[in-house]
Amino acid sequence: MDVRTALAQIADIVGPTGLVDGADAEALLIDERGLYQGRAALVVRPASAEECARVVRVCNEASVGVVPQGGNTGYCGGATPLDAENQILLNLSRMNRVREIDAVGFTMTVEAGLILAQAHAAAEEQDLLFPLSMGSEGSCQIGGNLATNAGGVAVLRYGTARDLVLGLEVVLPSGEIMSNLKGLRKDNAGYDLNGLFLGAEGTLGIITAAVLKLVPLPRSRQLAWVAVTDPDAACRLLVRARRESGDRVVSAEYVSRASLELVLEHVAGARDPLDKPYGHYVLLELASAEADTGLRAVMERILETALEKDEIQDGVIAESGRQRDALWALREAIPEAEKHDGGSVKHDISVRVSQIPTLLHDAEAALSALAPHRLSVFGHIGDGNLHYNVLPPPGSNLQAFKDKFAASLTAAVYELVNRLGGSFSAEHGVGIEKRDELERFTAPVALDLMRSLKKAMDPNGIMNPGKVLSQAGRTG
Ligand SMILES: Cc1cc2nc3c(=O)[nH]c(=O)nc-3n(C[C@H](O)[C@H](O)[C@H](O)COP(=O)(O)OP(=O)(O)OC[C@H]3O[C@@H](n4cnc5c(N)ncnc54)[C@H](O)[C@@H]3O)c2cc1C
Repeated sequence: MDVRTALAQIADIVGPTGLVDGADAEALLIDERGLYQGRAALVVRPASAEECARVVRVCNEASVGVVPQGGNTGYCGGATPLDAENQILLNLSRMNRVREIDAVGFTMTVEAGLILAQAHAAAEEQDLLFPLSMGSEGSCQIGGNLATNAGGVAVLRYGTARDLVLGLEVVLPSGEIMSNLKGLRKDNAGYDLNGLFLGAEGTLGIITAAVLKLVPLPRSRQLAWVAVTDPDAACRLLVRARRESGDRVVSAEYVSRASLELVLEHVAGARDPLDKPYGHYVLLELASAEADTGLRAVMERILETALEKDEIQDGVIAESGRQRDALWALREAIPEAEKHDGGSVKHDISVRVSQIPTLLHDAEAALSALAPHRLSVFGHIGDGNLHYNVLPPPGSNLQAFKDKFAASLTAAVYELVNRLGGSFSAEHGVGIEKRDELERFTAPVALDLMRSLKKAMDPNGIMNPGKVLSQAGRTG
């Protein structure tokens, strides 16, 4: 089938409501960070898994690339098509129903286009929690979360997106639908096929629905914003909090003074929670499903001991829901504040928690030798995952800075992370942006296996061409 015929058939399948054009299409073609200006032969929004399957079947027959897109909040360009003749953008936002909540089995079955915050709201109506949580939750979608194996601020307690899935419905590159929505906690019948699609960034198939794990809604929470002496003290505080709270730490977020200052400068109404500036902060949250568990006393005890041991210098415990929201807002606003400042060279890296002090120390030394710069370092210290972002000196243009220094700065960060046994891609994925790093830092035997899987599952290379693996299928 030639491409023109295929595009006409796809338009027929989705109908006028499923076709996106003009300014609406343009908005979907540019990525979250404005780094990639996309091009596509067609932008479609199918209404169901069946429509998706019919579209993919046509694409497979005509060798037309299919780029799945959720909320388009990804940081690596994975949801952006890059071929005006031979790729379509398939946006899942119309497929946004909650199909079922099983309050006995603690699961919910949802369609891939459901926005994460809406999944939270649906679970909460049943006094339950879907514990995946991140700054983009008002826009990102379950399908995108699963396709990127998203992390966020509660991984320490509940795991990444992968850990929260019991089953998937997937449209395969052949156009067949593979449905495993039984929602079983135990099912060892053969290979873990669901696992193949989690973190695959749409390169192996389109996730159209999922069974997600739920937990009881926490009834008590305690949140503290503390100034820690140094990154080593931050790690010691984390260990202390986990041990002394009976592992009720949900979040342990690191915020450098430089990141907080960006928020104070660029975000209206933001104010420093402490009376004077400190170099490093940790946002520590404990939670329990029980209403009155003396969690406040536990938090106070942890902080008192940490103060005695010189791990912390100052701190505040949220006294109300409003204060809790305000403290979280400081942390969540950092990406937006960086954007207002002109943008940054981002690194989403992970090491073992015990390596964080070495990472921060050695990275700063390495980067100082390479270029004048500012740092904005923050992230999920409880998971060993930091966003190690490099900004140009005040008043300098980001693009000029990137042209001159980004390659060497990024290489230095990733080399160090690799030396420490860490990962260049902790939670944001690979997309277009980190394909070269995947090649560079992945063992050949593992890369070969990834390519073999891609070839076996998508022989015509139609699924998200050129993303994750540069050599498999056609590149974008
Ligand atoms: C302010 C902000 C804060 C963020 N914080 C975090 C954080 O704490 N942790 C974190 O992990 N990420 C974070 N992110 C990154 C991003 O929000 C996540 O990666 C999110 O999971 C992407 O979801 P999405 O629906 O926007 O996916 P998209 O950006 O639309 O797509 C991402 C990738 O998944 C593929 N895809 C999308 N939907 C499907 C589907 N149904 N089937 C198959 N493939 C699909 C796309 O092709 C693409 O490769 C943040 C982003 C922003 C802007």
